[in-house]
Amino acid sequence: MLRSFFIGLSTNKPFRSFSERSAVGQRVSRRFVAGMSVGEAVDVAVKLNAEGIDVSLDSLGESVTERAQAEHSAAIYHQLLDAIAERGLQANVSVKLTQMGMEMDPAFAEAIVANIVEHAAYIKSFVRIDMEGSEYTEATIAMTERIHARSPGAVGTVLQAYLHRTAADVERLLAQGIRIRLCKGAYKEPATIAFPEKSAVDANYVTLMKRLVTSGVFCGIATHDEAIVEQMRAFVTAQKVDKRAFEFQMLYGVRRDLQRKLVAEGYGVRCYVPFGTEWYPYFMRRLAERPANVIFLAKNFFRN
Ligand SMILES: Cc1cc2nc3c(=O)[nH]c(=O)nc-3n(C[C@H](O)[C@H](O)[C@H](O)COP(=O)(O)OP(=O)(O)OC[C@H]3O[C@@H](n4cnc5c(N)ncnc54)[C@H](O)[C@@H]3O)c2cc1C
Repeated sequence: MLRSFFIGLSTNKPFRSFSERSAVGQRVSRRFVAGMSVGEAVDVAVKLNAEGIDVSLDSLGESVTERAQAEHSAAIYHQLLDAIAERGLQANVSVKLTQMGMEMDPAFAEAIVANIVEHAAYIKSFVRIDMEGSEYTEATIAMTERIHARSPGAVGTVLQAYLHRTAADVERLLAQGIRIRLCKGAYKEPATIAFPEKSAVDANYVTLMKRLVTSGVFCGIATHDEAIVEQMRAFVTAQKVDKRAFEFQMLYGVRRDLQRKLVAEGYGVRCYVPFGTEWYPYFMRRLAERPANVIFLAKNFFRN
C-alpha cells in the first residue's frame, strides 16, 4: 500500500514543484541524489572510481514537453561525456526517453538520443536507455535496436523482471548482441501485464539473470536484493562463469556496504549516480521501494 502511495506521490505536480525548490527538499534528496550540478556528479564519480566502483551518470528529468527542454537535457549529456573523456572516468551515462521529448515527438527524441550515442561511441563510452512505464516498453526496445544497428555496442537498454513479456524481450535483444540491464521494475503496472506478487518477480529475475550471465553478451545485474546477489555468487561459482562477464549495478546511496564487498570479491560493480534539480520523481520511487527510508530520512534530518 505504501508503495502505491509513494508512486502516486511521485506524479503529484504541486508537491513536486514545492519540494524541488525548497532547501529542505534539496537537503533530504542528498540521500539518493549526488548533487545539483554536473561538477558535483563528476566529483562523486571520481570518488567512486577511486574505490574501484564504475559509474553510470544520470541527469535527472523526465516527461519533457518542449523541444528546447529536451535539447537542454541532451546538452547536459554531451557535457557529461566530455567530462568522462577529459577526466578518464570509468563511467557511462543513463538516459530517459521522456526526458528527450519522447511523449511529444518520438522521431525528435530518437535523433537526440542517436547523437548522444554517437558521442559516447566516439569516446568509447556507452549509453544506457533507462526503461520507464509500460506505455514506453516497446518503443524503447525498438529505438534501442535501431540506434544499436548504427552504433553497435554503444547503446543498451533495461528490461524489467516484473513484466510478463520480459523473457521474450531478453531473447530478442540477446539475438542482436544488445546489452541488457536487468532490474525488477519501479513503476505501477496492472496485473494483466506484470506479476503482482513479489515472489514471482524475484523468481523471474533469477531465471533471467542466469540466462543473461551465460549468454556471452555483457550485462548488468541491477539489484540490491542480497538473496539474489547470493544466488548469483553460487551460480557463477558452480557454472564457472567469468566474474567479469557481467557487472552488478546498484543505486547511489543504497547498500554501499554490499557494493564495496562485491568489489573486494573481484566482481564488477557500477553505481547509478543521479544528479540535478529535477530529483523529485526519482526520489519518490526510491521511497516507494523501501518505505523504511522515510523513517531513516526523518531521523537524520532531525539529528542534523
Ligand atoms: C542500477 C539500477 C538501475 C535501475 N534502472 C531502472 C530502470 O531503468 N527502470 C526501472 O523500472 N527500474 C530501474 N531500477 C529500479 C528497480 O527496478 C527496482 O525498483 C529497485 O532496484 C529495487 O529493487 P531491488 O532489486 O533492489 O529489490 P527489492 O526487493 O525492492 O529490495 C531488496 C532489498 O534491497 C534494499 N533496497 C532496495 N531498494 C532500496 C532503497 N530504495 N533504499 C534502501 N534499500 C533498498 C533493501 O534492503 C531491500 O530489502 C534500477 C535499479 C538499479 C539498481
